[in-house]
Amino acid sequence: MSIVPLQRPTPSAFGPASLTQAGNAPSGSCPECGSERVTALVMTLTDGTPVEFASCHDCEHRHWAHQGEVLAFTDVITRTTRSRD
Ligand SMILES: [Zn+2]
Repeated sequence: MSIVPLQRPTPSAFGPASLTQAGNAPSGSCPECGSERVTALVMTLTDGTPVEFASCHDCEHRHWAHQGEVLAFTDVITRTTRSRD
């Protein structure tokens, strides 16, 4: 008699780790004063555009960025209120 060891498949519950990488966030420092005291958060506009909102604690500069490009404040407001008329 011999004991046959159970062969367990390697659990593959963990997906590719690359998905969790944040990438190059444009909010590392304030574009106005260069301060790194920037709070950044990701939000989605009403038209479905994912943007990153960053607020500087030193000069109170705020900006939105989408895919690495800084959005104009008026553009964000336009997208938030209505997409197109
Ligand atoms: Zn600043």
